[in-house]
Amino acid sequence: MSNRTALVTGASRGIGEACVKSLAGAGYRVVLAARSVDKLQELASELQGRGAEAFAVEVDLRSHESITASFAKAAKEFGRIDILVNNAGITKDGLAVRMKQTDWELVLQVNLSGAFYAIQQALPGMMKERWGRIVNISSVVGEMGNPGQANYVAAKAGLIGLTKSLAQEVGSRNITVNAVAPGFIETDMTHGLSEELKQKMLSQTPLKRMGTAEEIAHAVKFLVSEEAGFITGHVLDVNGGIYM
Ligand code: NAP
Repeated sequence: MSNRTALVTGASRGIGEACVKSLAGAGYRVVLAARSVDKLQELASELQGRGAEAFAVEVDLRSHESITASFAKAAKEFGRIDILVNNAGITKDGLAVRMKQTDWELVLQVNLSGAFYAIQQALPGMMKERWGRIVNISSVVGEMGNPGQANYVAAKAGLIGLTKSLAQEVGSRNITVNAVAPGFIETDMTHGLSEELKQKMLSQTPLKRMGTAEEIAHAVKFLVSEEAGFITGHVLDVNGGIYM
């Protein structure tokens, strides 16, 4: 068992759910954060049933106040956050020429600003402890671009810039900051995509299949481990080879 505490945003389903399950299985204390608090509580109970220490906390990443409050609740329960996985993310796709201001702002707010404010909450404790791990879940499209997703891609590329800058700021405190860039992964986020688009993506993926949430969780578990202590500012592609 580790005495480290990991907070994962967007833990109510998909990749975030896989991350908390994987981290709890590896012996970390886990804080599950998202808006769907009933689902989080259900997952936390499931993990507790398997002997893990898990705590569910409601957070809406659109709100700075909500982020601050959620970290305060987590601190009351478990103390310092040692590991932060900024996983929550949304899409509001559309061509740039017609994109509504609200769709641009919402995606930037949740996917980029929300992650940054969460980092600001977690950093002081990590700096004091001189140990910390931050993993930002970016996307392959943050590296290669994607038509119809200017807002999402800007946010995901922004997370990569944030990762590299922060890695340089806090490296001397023994805090590593990395990004994972998933390719095409089977979750609610990709469920609604047309069959045509799915086939197109798969034809461009050398491994000829979608990835699983668990495969992203494995990468996250590695990056937060002691063994990954000399890796920082890195973008780890877990994408079936669609972008190299
Ligand atoms: P998902 O199944 O749609 O889950 C998204 C998660 O984000 C949910 O837990 C959701 O929880 C949370 N969330 C959304 N808005 C939020 C808000 N305002 N405040 C707090 N939490 C919020 O997506 P996923 O596929 O697991 O994606 C996870 C991450 O991987 C995202 O950052 C996504 O961009 C990235 N990614 C996914 C893929 C893919 O193919 N699936 C590829 C590349 C990157 P609530 O609704 O309960 O708040």
